[in-house]
Parts: sequence; C-alpha cells; structure tokens
Amino acid sequence: MTLFEKIIAREIPADIVYEDDLVIAFNDINPKAPTHVLIIPKKPITRIAEAEPEDHQVLGHLLLKAREVAGELGLHEKGFRLVFNNGADAGETVPHLHLHILGGREMTWPPG
Ligand code: 5GP
Repeated sequence: MTLFEKIIAREIPADIVYEDDLVIAFNDINPKAPTHVLIIPKKPITRIAEAEPEDHQVLGHLLLKAREVAGELGLHEKGFRLVFNNGADAGETVPHLHLHILGGREMTWPPG
C-alpha cells in the first residue's frame, strides 16, 4: 500500500481540503509555495505513464476538481501551476499519481 493509499484509508493523517468518490485533495506536508495541495485519484494509478484509456473519466475529473480547488483557495485571479512529476528524472517520490496545485507566489520557468 502506498503512502497516499494510507492517507485515503485514514491510516495516516492529512489536512484534507476536498474529497469525493473519485479523488481526494490534501495539503502537501513539505510545501514549495504558500499554497501547495496534492490532488490524487482514489484509484491507485501509479503515474501518468501507467494510466490507461479507461482512466480518462477519473483523469478528466481530477483536472476539473483541481480547477475547482484552486478557485476555492483563491488562486484563479493571480494564477497557479499544476504539475505531474512522472518518474525518476522528474523527481517523482510517491508511486501513486498526484497532481501538485501550487500557488500564492510567482513561479519561474523553466522549472529546475
Ligand atoms: P512528488 O515528489 O512525487 O512529485 O511529490 C510527492 C509529494 O508528496 C511531495 O511534495 C511531498 O512533500 C509530499 N508528501 C510526502 N509524504 C507526505 C505525507 O505523509 N503527507 C503529505 N500530506 N504529503 C506528503
């Protein structure tokens, strides 16, 4: 069971900001911006590279809920960044698909 499955199962506490049947969103424990939320599918898809065509509904839902959570956190006006780290070179550390919602400060481009 991955760390994030344990958060879904309430075996590890997390500061949950949104939840429904398909996704859950919680504050990152080591925030890289004033607002740093992770939104994840409850289905344990390992990473984007492992997603299947049958996951299109949950992934579409994930993106639209990321939009909604960002709005509720007041990020629509000034902007926010959505990030999937996929695999070792991207710095992925938890093998359960997660979308970072980052905001509250100016971001640089390209990312490091
Ligand atoms: P990745 O580096 O895989 O893209 O992102 C994993 C994220 O999970 C990191 O930003 C890290 O801070 C966060 N994280 C790791 N362990 C925990 C935890 O136990 N609780 C929470 N809320 N976030 C965690």
